[in-house]
Amino acid sequence: RAKGQGTQRWALYDADSHAREIARSTLCTHLPTALERGEFFLEYQPLVSLANGSVVGAEALVRWRHPQHGTLGPDAFVPLAEQTGLIVPLGRWVLETACAQARAWQRELPGVPLRINVNLAPQQARCPELVHDVLRILKEAELEPQALCLEVTENALIGADDQALHALRRLTDHGVAIALDDFGTGYSNFSHLHRLPVDTLKIDRSLIGDLAAAGEPDPTAEKILTALVSLARALGLTVTAEGVETADQADRLRALGCDTAQGWLYGRPGAADALPALAASLSGSLLEAVPDDQSSP
Ligand code: C2E
Ligand code: MG
Ligand code: MG
Ligand code: MG
Repeated sequence: RAKGQGTQRWALYDADSHAREIARSTLCTHLPTALERGEFFLEYQPLVSLANGSVVGAEALVRWRHPQHGTLGPDAFVPLAEQTGLIVPLGRWVLETACAQARAWQRELPGVPLRINVNLAPQQARCPELVHDVLRILKEAELEPQALCLEVTENALIGADDQALHALRRLTDHGVAIALDDFGTGYSNFSHLHRLPVDTLKIDRSLIGDLAAAGEPDPTAEKILTALVSLARALGLTVTAEGVETADQADRLRALGCDTAQGWLYGRPGAADALPALAASLSGSLLEAVPDDQSSP
């Protein structure tokens, strides 16, 4: 009988899924201790005001410097971290690191109000310690709550229980902003939207990609975006577009009334110390207002 089962398993064997399983199990072996080994790091991607082209903040994006596989993006390990529960301590580390970084930028660039966006996994939103953790982290970083924006996906919020919504609302009461990430990809329940503690709609790059693709205006994408922007306006929300890759797309988004943009056009995710130079090159006038000699103690 054991032999029979073995035969059956071999019948289902396929090289791709076998390779995937090996990759998964080596990731599983290393993931639980990767945090204490200091193998995670953050990259930051600028958020730019469409009105004047200045950098208004950055999104923190987690990476894993894996001892065998090199640098891995979040798609390779965040789902695994969610399954194993590691996402809660990992997410807390991301918040701590990103908030400390935001404070460092503020010190380096006085007078340039930079906001930090941090992705929040569904499990983190459900964690009873969320409010306490976030407020503690802000206090330790000496960062004002208004400088933090938590990005939550639509699906996470719609599936969220009252407790998670209550926690997010308490954070917004303290001044933390909440963005609905990847908006337009999930089950967009518009009637539900006004009851969610959300300040910003972050429109998914799949919708932006269709806009002015190859320089050709796409009437359908334009109509959808026009509708989303007016929906956001009606609800008093700001709109961020992600995945902006071309100047044509940025022009269209500005004309449609979009507030903020993020994408390769402005900068790829990169090291924290690259941001001040980028902020300077995208908005030289803002930084020229701060004389050099003020930065030395
Ligand atoms: P997201 O929050 O929607 O982040 C934006 C993703 O789009 C990033 O991918 C970014 O590198 C990519 N991107 C930005 N601009 C462009 C562009 O112009 N063109 C294209 N093609 N792509 C662009 P990344 O870094 O691979 O992150 C993937 C996802 O992983 C994120 O999507 C986010 O949902 C998740 N993630 C990242 N960091 C964290 C984290 O600390 N915690 C949690 N829970 N999830 C995270
Ligand atoms: Mg995000
Ligand atoms: Mg996003
Ligand atoms: Mg996205």
